[in-house]
Amino acid sequence: MMFIKGKTMLLFTPGPTPVPEFARVAMAGLTLHHRTPEFEAIFAETRELLFKLFNTDEVIMLASSGTGAMEAAVTNLCSDTLLNINSGKFGERFGKIALASGLKNVEIKNSWDTPASVEEVLEALKANPSIDALAIQISESAGGLRHDVEAIAKAVKEINPEIMVIADGITAVGVERIDVTNIDCLIAGSQKALMLPPGLAILGLSNAAVAKIGKGKGYYLNLASEIKQQSKNTTAYTAATTLIIGLREVLKHIEENDGIGKLYCDTARRAKACRFALEAIGLHSYPKTPARSMTTIDDVNASEIRNILKEDFGVNVAGGQDDLKGKIFRINQMGLIEPYEIIWVVNAVELALQKLGRRDFDGTASRVFSETYFKTMIEKSREK
Ligand SMILES: *Cc1c(COP(=O)(O)O)cnc(C)c1O
Repeated sequence: MMFIKGKTMLLFTPGPTPVPEFARVAMAGLTLHHRTPEFEAIFAETRELLFKLFNTDEVIMLASSGTGAMEAAVTNLCSDTLLNINSGKFGERFGKIALASGLKNVEIKNSWDTPASVEEVLEALKANPSIDALAIQISESAGGLRHDVEAIAKAVKEINPEIMVIADGITAVGVERIDVTNIDCLIAGSQKALMLPPGLAILGLSNAAVAKIGKGKGYYLNLASEIKQQSKNTTAYTAATTLIIGLREVLKHIEENDGIGKLYCDTARRAKACRFALEAIGLHSYPKTPARSMTTIDDVNASEIRNILKEDFGVNVAGGQDDLKGKIFRINQMGLIEPYEIIWVVNAVELALQKLGRRDFDGTASRVFSETYFKTMIEKSREK
């Protein structure tokens, strides 16, 4: 919750997401020097918690936004040609990073509602033997879609285990359990599912990735220098101390409140209930394979709905970018969200449709939300 012009506003954009009060309070302490035993202890604890979240062989924190980690992954893990999956703005970005770094790229481009298939990835690999890394989003935030990264990564490794698989999990790590068996680099960013202010990026690395990094590439984003320092609980350059303190708090909070499994389960239930509620009032879910991180609706009145949500009901949801500007709206599902907040959001969307003269308000959205979200509880009490 935040205040705009004295009015409360629910922040429901899929990044940045609201920072919980306990994290804000933790970050309000005195500034710690990063080269001290006090901070190194915090760093070590955060690193341990990250290993549990990522399930990877190595974990590196960078003082940068998510894109910095995308660039570090590409420059350190690709030395010839990058295959990037472009089903949206963030997938496109991987290709731009490759070119800006003097690498070649091959791109699989689909419309923003369409995930990449295993077949088209394998075809691209066959046609371009110089590809030595694949970069893909787990959840492509541009259109709210989920790529089947696990299946694609498995197929890639079966063809050539040397190909590095880079998975952008900026809107997936902390949202759902990710099978990292065939993933060499898994990326997260502080301001999305991790519920923190922007400025911290995290990379989970496989042993194969660490081996391929070798001496590393570049200077600030040289992953070899960071691996060397962070294994000793310090960083090559000044650490994002305040954000790391916040991250430790968020991860500890999750652990102490029934664990990450509970968070994944609540997120899945909420995303499903929200989509069902909006479909029940005649709205259309945009992506062919919806991600759990956000609910994405394409609609001719997308802009009007967003405005009404903001002006009349104090709800801030995101729109679309580029070709999807004015055509979609995206409701965040990442982080700690109370059911009463999201029920208000779906109810407000139904009221917005009433205001636009599209349907008579009868409370369908909030009813369907509750019936879906609280399904097990409702069924159990009916059996009695
Ligand atoms: C937000 C986002 C990014 C970019 O992160 P920045 O922190 O803005 O640099 C990359 N990938 C995905 C999927 C995102 O949602």
